[in-house]
Amino acid sequence: MNKIILFDVDCTLMDIPGLGKRTFPPMFREVYGKDTDFSPQAQGLADQAIVYKYMTLAGLTKEEIEAKMQEAIRVLIEVFKRDIEKDLNQFILPGVRELLKKLKDDGYRLGLLTGNLEDIAWEKMRRANLEGIFEFGGFGSDAVERDDLVPIARRKAERVLGMDISPENIIVIGDTPKDVSCAKVSGAKFIGVSTGHFSKEDLESHGAEIILPDLSDTEKVMKTIKEL
Ligand SMILES: [Mg+2]
Repeated sequence: MNKIILFDVDCTLMDIPGLGKRTFPPMFREVYGKDTDFSPQAQGLADQAIVYKYMTLAGLTKEEIEAKMQEAIRVLIEVFKRDIEKDLNQFILPGVRELLKKLKDDGYRLGLLTGNLEDIAWEKMRRANLEGIFEFGGFGSDAVERDDLVPIARRKAERVLGMDISPENIIVIGDTPKDVSCAKVSGAKFIGVSTGHFSKEDLESHGAEIILPDLSDTEKVMKTIKEL
């Protein structure tokens, strides 16, 4: 099987209520000394891009933000581990567990493609009993812009799997226009899901062609993946 599938995490595999609001503002306060009016919808921005966005709004320069980025990353991971539910099983979206099992049984190699910092993404998998499913990924700690993440995930997959993977053999599954965009700019295929803040029409208007309401119909998702 030379096809790999890269899953977005938030609002694609799981939906943790108020996640951004519970992790970013405490970190902004501790690291940058800024209180923020944090919108609940980061809309697919990678974690470092969220830091730039909100700290720019708070009046800091790019250099001031960058100077503390490593500390911001460290504290964000700390806050996540401390404040977020230890058991995330309840937040897994419909059909996800069944679909992942079926994909693994059929020999697909799976990865993550997420704006989450790598440590946070793997911690979410552990806390949701999804350990051992995903073998590689592109993460918000690898790049500021999500558009850069597919080639990064591809290189890591090639190392792990010991083979070349062409972009058209990569399928990205995600819920935001930024997921659509990162797949398109890298020549990967895309399947959208409307389990986040974006409708079928929203994703279509950003160029997505295949959009499912969610991942609950395992047979339909499998058929869609096979036909891509
Ligand atoms: Mg998402």
